[in-house]
Amino acid sequence: MFTMQHSDQGEEENEPYYQRLIHAGLNQAFSVLESLFFITLTLYGRGRPMAKPKFAIYWAGSCGGCEIAFLDIREKILDVDKAVDLVFCPCIMDTKYKDIEAMKDGEIDVCLFNGSIRNEENLHIAELLRKKSKVMVAYGSCATEGCVPGLGNLTNAEEIQKYAFETSPSTGNPDKIRPRAETKVKGGKLTLPVMCDYVRTLGQVIDVDYFMPGCPPVADQIWAVIEAVLTNALPPKGSVVGVNPKTVCDECDREKNEKRVKRFFRPHEVDPKDIDPNLCLLEQGIVCNGPATRAGCGALCPQVNLGCRGCYGPAEGIEDMGGKLAGSIASVIDSDDPEEIERIVSQIVDPVGTFYRFSLPSSILGRKV
Ligand code: SF4
Ligand code: SF4
Repeated sequence: MFTMQHSDQGEEENEPYYQRLIHAGLNQAFSVLESLFFITLTLYGRGRPMAKPKFAIYWAGSCGGCEIAFLDIREKILDVDKAVDLVFCPCIMDTKYKDIEAMKDGEIDVCLFNGSIRNEENLHIAELLRKKSKVMVAYGSCATEGCVPGLGNLTNAEEIQKYAFETSPSTGNPDKIRPRAETKVKGGKLTLPVMCDYVRTLGQVIDVDYFMPGCPPVADQIWAVIEAVLTNALPPKGSVVGVNPKTVCDECDREKNEKRVKRFFRPHEVDPKDIDPNLCLLEQGIVCNGPATRAGCGALCPQVNLGCRGCYGPAEGIEDMGGKLAGSIASVIDSDDPEEIERIVSQIVDPVGTFYRFSLPSSILGRKV
């Protein structure tokens, strides 16, 4: 019921990579909804009337991809509505904050909170939803580790705003006007949330019950939480759900040999036709974070010739993902000559973005100080 379904394997193989990724994601999303609907019908069908669980889905500092995982299901969203009572989801519903404030503490059964804590509104709503929710789930990479918004921690709020509103080549703002927290207008005042100096993960600001990594999480992860709530089979508090303790490499079918690399390529520098579809990408010089990344996605990216970016976060026992990744990459360089090593390493453009793309705020480095 929860596995990825393929309608026509031969046809899929001829599809471009991005289409295959989209189809895989859609199939998984449909699978989750079918399961959700099935469980609800089963519970109601047994003559055990029960109130529909109240769900909330919130986005803080994020790209919206975690919501897209839901919204891509189009009209199937109606099936979700039959199974749960969605009480808060700013992406698709016009619920006001005052409606949430009026709820009793713990009235929401499960809150999936995606997005990092980038501004004071994110922080306020995280604290509010924590109070109103029985189960708080850090949903997706931004909430669990900081993800791409967390790369803002290489700088600070002042520098970011100075660049965005004053010095960037595409900015036309001669009066150097910046957003203000409060602006008086006729009849009242307008407010904007103040940007925090640096990005924090959800677990760095409130108590979190479960962590669902992924950018975005695959449907099985979403299902694991919903099923656990509906069947009262929640794992111990603090668990990372929908993953296994191995690495993406363990889930990857590509042939693995001793890796000796003389040159690293960026994805756009390689013609897909030149990539051996059966051989480890890292052995072919394509940076792949599989050795240090937590398993659970089924090695989706290497399946379509893309190196794993590490969106599931660090595998068990790894304290600092970037440090581990840099070490893994260094260990495959085929040279003992310092100058050649330097030349090979310099081919990895943007090492922080490569090794800490998803984890900077939760890393040992954390942020610029
Ligand atoms: S490094 Fe990447 S391509 Fe190679 S085995 Fe690991 S996940 Fe697969
Ligand atoms: S292969 Fe890596 S980057 Fe791709 S979905 Fe899996 S964990 Fe994320």
